[in-house]
Amino acid sequence: MIRTCEAIVLKAVPFAEGGAVVSFLSEHGERLSGLAKGVKKPTARWVAAFEPLGMVRVSFFGKEQTELKRVTRCELSFSPLCLGHLESSLVMACLADLFDRVAREGVEDDRLYRLLSACGRALKADPDNALGILAYAEHWLLHCMGLLPHPRTCGRCGSETAPLVLLSPEEGWCCSSCTPVDPREALPAGSREHLRNLRLRGAEAAPRVDPTDGAQQAVTALLRARLLQELGGGLRSYDVLWRSV
Ligand SMILES: [Zn+2]
Repeated sequence: MIRTCEAIVLKAVPFAEGGAVVSFLSEHGERLSGLAKGVKKPTARWVAAFEPLGMVRVSFFGKEQTELKRVTRCELSFSPLCLGHLESSLVMACLADLFDRVAREGVEDDRLYRLLSACGRALKADPDNALGILAYAEHWLLHCMGLLPHPRTCGRCGSETAPLVLLSPEEGWCCSSCTPVDPREALPAGSREHLRNLRLRGAEAAPRVDPTDGAQQAVTALLRARLLQELGGGLRSYDVLWRSV
């Protein structure tokens, strides 16, 4: 039985004789994986079809319940790759790693596909904002996982105006009027506004990383730590990224 769908390539792990086990995020937001058999003389087209974050049309062959299906066709329709742009390539690997962990086999969540395809297109259009796009994706992934409460109101007292000071696992965003926090540990002023920017903008307008923006730095670090903690840490792509930028 052959199944064909639009998908985004996540990761390709080398397998016997030049083949690879490739994971994909389907257009319905489900994780799919299959064995792409090695070919004797891989063409550039064949290789490019399995690069992370490539948007492809892929066909799988195999019985419904078999352990590993075969990838019989994989045609690249859009690649976010900008040759020679290291930071953008490294961020693509991080995104592939993240979505490979978050997406589930047998579980559809089309928000994941929309998010990752938007990030891919934004990376292609503006590779210099790769780190901003990564932070944007992390924020929305947390949201999709149900781990990011809305920042409009304080989860403890309901205030809509007092500055947010921390993110509590139980109560969500907490504000300064109900939660005493050492000022050195509180979220900087402007954190709610930065969260609001992340929510209201598309990936192509993801806030650019600004080292002088304390609220952005703090929110990015907080959300990233929360996400990586939830995913069990150990994402090699992130280690590589931090060693390189
Ligand atoms: Zn409050």
